[in-house]
Amino acid sequence: MEFMIGTMISMPHCVVCGQQFTDDIRFLNHMMDKHGFRNPNIDKPDRNSRGY
Ligand SMILES: [Zn+2]
Repeated sequence: MEFMIGTMISMPHCVVCGQQFTDDIRFLNHMMDKHGFRNPNIDKPDRNSRGY
């Protein structure tokens, strides 16, 4: 019974333009497509090379 933190939100909304979404996937796609956000789950920076 493990859930992502984002799934606890039933109706996420964009803090940039205020649009609401029925699920996190649409929300993430919107943020990445419209506002250039990157999904931390699939885009992990190399901490070793950056030292952070
Ligand atoms: Zn937006």
